Amino acid sequence: NFPDTKHMTSNNDTLFARAQLTTPGGVNSPVRAFRSVGGTPRFITRAEGPYFWDADDRRYIDYIGSWGPAIVGHAHPTVIKAVQDAAARGLSFGAPTEGEIEIAEEICKLVPSIEQVRLVSSGTEATMSALRLARGATGRDKILKFEGCYHGHADSLLVKAGSGLLTFGNPTSAGVPEDFVKHTLVLDYNNCEQLEQAFKDMGDQIACVIVEPVAGNMNLVRATPEFLQTMRRLCTQYGTVLIFDEVMCGFRVALGGAQALYNIKPDITALGKVIGGGLPVAAFGGRADLMKHMAPLGSVYQAGTLSGNPVAVAAGMSTLKLIQEPDFYTKLSAQTSKLVQGLSSAAKDAGITFSGDAIGGMFGLYFAAEVPGTYAAMMASNKDLFNKFFHAMLDAGVYLAPSAFEAGFVSAQHDDAVIDATIAAARGAFAQLA
Ligand code: PMP
Repeated sequence: NFPDTKHMTSNNDTLFARAQLTTPGGVNSPVRAFRSVGGTPRFITRAEGPYFWDADDRRYIDYIGSWGPAIVGHAHPTVIKAVQDAAARGLSFGAPTEGEIEIAEEICKLVPSIEQVRLVSSGTEATMSALRLARGATGRDKILKFEGCYHGHADSLLVKAGSGLLTFGNPTSAGVPEDFVKHTLVLDYNNCEQLEQAFKDMGDQIACVIVEPVAGNMNLVRATPEFLQTMRRLCTQYGTVLIFDEVMCGFRVALGGAQALYNIKPDITALGKVIGGGLPVAAFGGRADLMKHMAPLGSVYQAGTLSGNPVAVAAGMSTLKLIQEPDFYTKLSAQTSKLVQGLSSAAKDAGITFSGDAIGGMFGLYFAAEVPGTYAAMMASNKDLFNKFFHAMLDAGVYLAPSAFEAGFVSAQHDDAVIDATIAAARGAFAQLA
């Protein structure tokens, strides 16, 4: 039963209608569906460097970069060659390989707080396993997270709080029993007083604090240094495991991740996205005395049929080599800043209330007078204007994240010509909004 597609002019419309027959909402991950901005998602056929092409063979400058992984640009020849070579040797063995040792050594070298690391296949698995490890190692049940931080879709992390004071467990998703999240405490991001109070009240019951040290799932919101320092101090004082979820910001904001920028050592770090270079690799790792609790050494169980998959590891390893080239992050940061400055001055010229922020290859665009420092400030930005801007940019061949509450990503292939073309498109888009 195919849909009636005669009236549809775009192949994207046809594919979207067809997709919805066999896939809920037509997509395999919700934000792809354009629900918050409206319209038809683009179905992507191929990508190269800073661009991808849709089913009508229309080219877009891509600022989602697969939601983070595509830091060296799409289809980088070195990465593709590594993947092809690995694939030719076999796709999966279910037995250890030398490649897994190499990538573990590379991760430990690049992120000094990580002494030992376990590979998994998604960020969700990384944070979920890190939580289990923290609970197993401390013998405590309570966990602490912050509103607006996303850590994947494990049950106990799918919790949002009302803003304001401490709130326990209201599941954000149906299908998550309240009993599962009653141990999840949610606080406001960047609020040191709340953090102090929570530890004073129940610090010796908290297994771990999990945080995005640069938040990228409520658009981009930086942690203040005091916030992360307070967290580190309290976790040390109360024997609580500090987990930095660097699935998004790891190898994105700097070579050593946000922990290098802020000079703070978490006990456990979750990684993903960039370390797989576009294939499913994620990881969690940290202090060896904690990691020794993992099976087969310890009593915290975790496993995966495709964990450390040789083809995925090859993509990740070649990406990790490329990002260590001289000046990689200096150039990436310069291009990202150039983009944000160009967009900000284009908005100013058009009289639009707008601000922007950039860290490494990650950026935030806000229809707000100032860069938001809290979840509440972020939520107060103008979503309707963003949606109009998004569509005007899309029409002009620039693909931004299809939601006002997502961060954007620049790759090493976004050269001056690409950034200039984006800013020119934005001038046109802002003029339409004014
Ligand atoms: N943590 C963070 C900070 C993320 O941004 C994401 C995904 N956007 C995840 C965890 C979950 O990763 P995955 O989608 O690979 O399960």
